[in-house]
Amino acid sequence: MSRISILGLEGTAWNLSAAIVNEDDVIVETTATYKPTTGGIHPREAAQHHANRIKEVVGETLKKGGRNIDAVAFSQGPGLGPCLRTVATAARALALSMEVPLIGVNHCVAHIEVGRWRTPADDPVTLYVSGANSQVLAYRAGYYRVFGETLDIGIGNALDKFARSVGLPHPGGPKVEELAGKATRYIPLPYTVKGMDFSFSGLATAAQECTKSFALPDVCHSFQETAFAMLVEVTERAVAHTEKKEVLLAGGVGANARLREMLGIMCEDRGIEFYVPEKRFMGDNGAMIAYLGLLMYRAGYRTSLSDSKVNPNFRPDEVEVIWRNNSS
Ligand code: AMP
Ligand code: MG
Repeated sequence: MSRISILGLEGTAWNLSAAIVNEDDVIVETTATYKPTTGGIHPREAAQHHANRIKEVVGETLKKGGRNIDAVAFSQGPGLGPCLRTVATAARALALSMEVPLIGVNHCVAHIEVGRWRTPADDPVTLYVSGANSQVLAYRAGYYRVFGETLDIGIGNALDKFARSVGLPHPGGPKVEELAGKATRYIPLPYTVKGMDFSFSGLATAAQECTKSFALPDVCHSFQETAFAMLVEVTERAVAHTEKKEVLLAGGVGANARLREMLGIMCEDRGIEFYVPEKRFMGDNGAMIAYLGLLMYRAGYRTSLSDSKVNPNFRPDEVEVIWRNNSS
């Protein structure tokens, strides 16, 4: 049986990445990362970075991975408008010139599916924590339902914003984690879970205020403990509600050892499995876009040019999961 090969393009925010994937593995992946000179991500600067580098990134990927491509998949959203448009334009041009179908994929769903591919997770509750997104998702009757999500900014952006306000370079998440390791005390900070949703903006501002009176490592530690407890609480409640037996961690913030530890403890207490993919599949990557493209391609899904417009607010629960059987 001949293998299906999909070229996937990711560029929703700071990472531009192209990969070729087949049913067995990632054949090749090439990445170019935008690093802001000052402050956080500037959407138009990031888009310009992607435009400058995309020829080289795609060229390298095709050179190493071969040109026998069955379809071109790209992140249709959610993400930063200028970045999405730049990468979508390239994807359309590539599909037309290679005379293969185009497949627009949802970035959040790609995070879930790559986790199901690269770990033994089959039907997990997923905690997806990245720069812009924070969501608790699980499959139910044909869709990945959002059981809880942030009411304002993503946990990664909250960490980055706080870190920037105290003079730490972007991205701040890893720096906050490092400093938290030197803490000697916990400072109570606002804990905001409303129903099944959480919010991080107030926490970031309160933590910033706290640095006037407390040592930075103590504030970093307290920020992490508070924010992660909120995420774990909602994940646990989604597990209790859905009665699923697995938790999957996805997104760049999933690199954090303390978050993993807290989720691991919750899963152990409940007697369920906890899965974390290899680090390269956690942050934004082209392989996950190519892989979801492959699942959708196999299920017969195609995106016409007229439907290939990007959607910066594309929700995962808008996507009918036609590639999974609809039994759970
Ligand atoms: P993504 O948007 O999925 O590529 O993830 C990027 C986000 O992950 C940024 O906001 C980073 O600050 C955050 N991040 C990366 N490593 C860590 C870490 N070790 N702890 C907390 N946040 C992290
Ligand atoms: Mg992401």
